[in-house]
Amino acid sequence: NPVQRRKPEWLRVKAPVSRAYNETREIVREHKLATVCEEAACPNIGECWAKKHATMMIMGEICTRACSFCNISTGRPNALDPFEPTNVGQAVRKLALEHVVVTSVDRDDLPDGGAEHFAQTIRAIREASPATTIEILTPDFLRKDGALEVVVEARPDVFNHNLETVPRLYPSVRPGARYFASLRLLDRVKEMDPSIFTKSGIMVGLGESREEVLQLMDDLRSADVDFMTIGQYLQPTAKHHAIDRFITPDEFKEYKRRAYGKGFLMVSASPLTRSSYHAGEDFERLRAA
Ligand code: SF4
Ligand code: SF4
Repeated sequence: NPVQRRKPEWLRVKAPVSRAYNETREIVREHKLATVCEEAACPNIGECWAKKHATMMIMGEICTRACSFCNISTGRPNALDPFEPTNVGQAVRKLALEHVVVTSVDRDDLPDGGAEHFAQTIRAIREASPATTIEILTPDFLRKDGALEVVVEARPDVFNHNLETVPRLYPSVRPGARYFASLRLLDRVKEMDPSIFTKSGIMVGLGESREEVLQLMDDLRSADVDFMTIGQYLQPTAKHHAIDRFITPDEFKEYKRRAYGKGFLMVSASPLTRSSYHAGEDFERLRAA
């Protein structure tokens, strides 16, 4: 498919070369941290790491799910590393991050889905680096009763859970997940603690229609979700879900306009938007407003 081989101009980005990029990489290596930036071969790594913004991935690099857009290996994960929360806290302090995004693989194998480990990581970052605002990007904790409560009680500043795509495409894109369960999860976070900002995102270019995206925005707003991200899906390898098309920068602008019109507090919609892209700057701007 020639469309997939050649990326449009607006998706080509510069190679990572700056000194700050190398410093970030050293700290990441030293603490043996896994980052989504590398695992997902994110196109923004040069820009983000130059600003010392990285997305930490906890609970291992093997996932119990197999989403068709995702480049993480599926299988039986290793036992949790009890030192990981402290280690992440120390790395955040060294990187002097104003804002950190912490995410994880899905751990259907654990009785609590990894909720306690998430909570411990939040607490360890708070302790090591009290001024850093914390954004978590969580799995759906499907069929893990009581798990969400544990994470919410640790009080992250931003609770992000991505819907990833429109409900019609779930069976082929996100087979282990349920659209309305994910929506309800976001709704429950807000019910439990209205002071936490909630956030969700999707990829476009998977075959969704414009109407479906607008409906999804309404669904998120009806769950009181505050922030939304929309970015171009890029196929990690030929085995992954095919790209349906490249959404143009103008279409992204239109999505952004419509999303703000529906009442989101913050919207990022552009070809290179990822759920953690510019998360810190956007959050600071919002708090200053
Ligand atoms: Fe990492 Fe997110 Fe930046 Fe990509 S957008 S490089 S995943 S922080
Ligand atoms: Fe990738 Fe997350 Fe899906 Fe696991 S649950 S396959 S890490 S997107």
